[in-house]
Amino acid sequence: MSVTNKSIDEKVHSILSEQALQIIKHLNIGAYVVSPEREIYLWNDKAKEITGYSQEEVEGAKCQDNILRHVDDNGTELCIQGCPLHETIKDGQLRKARVYLRHKTGFRMPVKVETLPIMLNNEIKGAIELFQEDTEELNLLEELRRTREKALICPLTEIGNRRYTEQVLEDRLEEMKRLKSSLGLFFMDIDDFKCINDTYGHPIGDIVLKMVARTLVNIMRPYDFVGRWGGEEMVAIIPHVKQEELYPLGERFRKLISASSIKTTQGRLNVTVSIGATISNENDTIQSIIERADQMMYISKREGKNRVTVYNG
Ligand code: GH3
Ligand code: MG
Ligand code: MG
Repeated sequence: MSVTNKSIDEKVHSILSEQALQIIKHLNIGAYVVSPEREIYLWNDKAKEITGYSQEEVEGAKCQDNILRHVDDNGTELCIQGCPLHETIKDGQLRKARVYLRHKTGFRMPVKVETLPIMLNNEIKGAIELFQEDTEELNLLEELRRTREKALICPLTEIGNRRYTEQVLEDRLEEMKRLKSSLGLFFMDIDDFKCINDTYGHPIGDIVLKMVARTLVNIMRPYDFVGRWGGEEMVAIIPHVKQEELYPLGERFRKLISASSIKTTQGRLNVTVSIGATISNENDTIQSIIERADQMMYISKREGKNRVTVYNG
């Protein structure tokens, strides 16, 4: 490996000065240097950031090995036909193009590309490709993503809204059925929330809601989900759970919420939640499982709030 690195290092130094190399390495746009045979000699950090490919993966490879597989708007593979870098190496002309490269993880991204030759004594010794994300195109994608998020995320608590929660629950129920596993559903309702609003005001009530949501998000594992069902009700969906794990899990949620607080001018404010929990069965629908957990939550309220009740079917 070190031999290869060294020889590439030597090769790049044979066509570029140390100063030029340092500039290219630290450019804030993607850049790579190739030989006339299009062997990649240098791949800068920004190129790595944009494409997902590291220096080790790319340096020493040939452009035509088709790592990035540039395509144009029509999907034509440019490495095979009309690669701007190749053209520049042939005729020494600068070129600008808008292409799609392939990120390491597979998706296509629009980039603006500029290619320029490296000349030494009137001979073409290689070329540089500069590239950056085509932000106009990306803004559109970003806009789409935001619109989608707006439709699925509760803006106050920044967790999934009712619609999103229903979608996730439906997907997970289906998945559990397929995998012959079960999920735990926890229905949580903040205790005496109306009283908090009445005593401290609605804006403080909002902060409490955010705090409870944040606490729950922080204790979830990556595959778990928490969403706002409505008002001061939240739902947690925990896949691959057994009946006997429900109570300890619910207790963990309950205790962590009651141990959280927010600062108000009248001192620290704590809230508690009443929780109802149930395990899924293979016949469950969104409605049936929510209803069971909700009924358990009501038992928790009746029995004095700040507690967990588990359905024992
Ligand atoms: P319980 O312990 O029985 O659950 O009593 P509670 O007071 O929590 O329940 P209730 O259903 O009487 O009141 C819920 C309150 O939650 C009333 C409503 O104004 C308030 N609420 C719902 N959504 C929001 C919100 O987004 N922000 C704030 N601040 N309050 C909200
Ligand atoms: Mg309620
Ligand atoms: Mg309540």
